[in-house]
Amino acid sequence: LVGHEHQIRVLRQAVSSGKVGHAYLFSGPSGVGKFRAAFAFAALILCQEGGENACGRCESCRTLARGFHPDLVLVETEPDKKVLRVELIRVMEQKLALKAVGAKGVKVAIIRDAEEMNKAAQSALLKTLEEPPGESVLVLVCNNRFSLERTVLSRCQAISFESLEAKQVERALIQNHGHTPERARVLAAFSEGSLGVALALDEKFLSEGRPKLIQAVRGLPGGGFSRAEALAARLAREKDIDASLAVLLSFYRDQVRYGLLGARARVQNSDLTPWEAAPSWQHGLRCLEDVYDTFTALEANANKKLALEALFVKLSRRDEAC
Ligand SMILES: [Zn+2]
Repeated sequence: LVGHEHQIRVLRQAVSSGKVGHAYLFSGPSGVGKFRAAFAFAALILCQEGGENACGRCESCRTLARGFHPDLVLVETEPDKKVLRVELIRVMEQKLALKAVGAKGVKVAIIRDAEEMNKAAQSALLKTLEEPPGESVLVLVCNNRFSLERTVLSRCQAISFESLEAKQVERALIQNHGHTPERARVLAAFSEGSLGVALALDEKFLSEGRPKLIQAVRGLPGGGFSRAEALAARLAREKDIDASLAVLLSFYRDQVRYGLLGARARVQNSDLTPWEAAPSWQHGLRCLEDVYDTFTALEANANKKLALEALFVKLSRRDEAC
């Protein structure tokens, strides 16, 4: 698990002092490690040895390592569904009501993607939260706590997980996922502070497509209509136009940041340019507007090639000196 030192300390302390609550809500952006934290917390609660982390040697830990633990109930939305149905909450309740197998007599349930519970599921859960069966601990994991009923929220101890620092993501990518430092830096810069996002990014596009695209766009001024048209035609054929536009947004955002803050600016595309030579932040801001307009046009089903052509013509005419 990367980062979240404070949250982990609070949870460890609850276990070591024997003051684990009945219900927790782990919330925060997707991919920052909430589920891993919930799983590690459950393992620690069930572990018979105790300590900073689950020991990995006791009977409970060994059972967990085999992939199934009778005292751990995992609830998640079925793969083909968008809603976590009430039936799953009822099954969870029944399992929690059974006597615990482990020596500690505790059972733990983790509800993954808790925000996908529909109203019926949440009402059923509310009853469990009001009268927890036996010695049980519930951990709700969710990206968006505001989609949960207030009555559910108020019965859970909230543990919020923040986005990670880019440096933390970068380190984890190198140490735990074998990335080279250069690749790790690029992925981390586009990860929005989430290791999960970093791992899901299209690495090839970021390391090859992105610099190529930015270079092409920088070459637009002075290239006339034909260059703009050619680039539009090429991009319009691509599967994921949004990804290309997102790169342009990040590039012009960098230009604005650098223009305003100078060397103190944290730019995403730090690998690409001597930023000192970039045009002004005002220029960046106008280009940003142009790209946003294109997003809007495409959302309104504008013709892809024409919308991109209009964008590149505008970008090619933007006065660098402004
Ligand atoms: Zn153990």
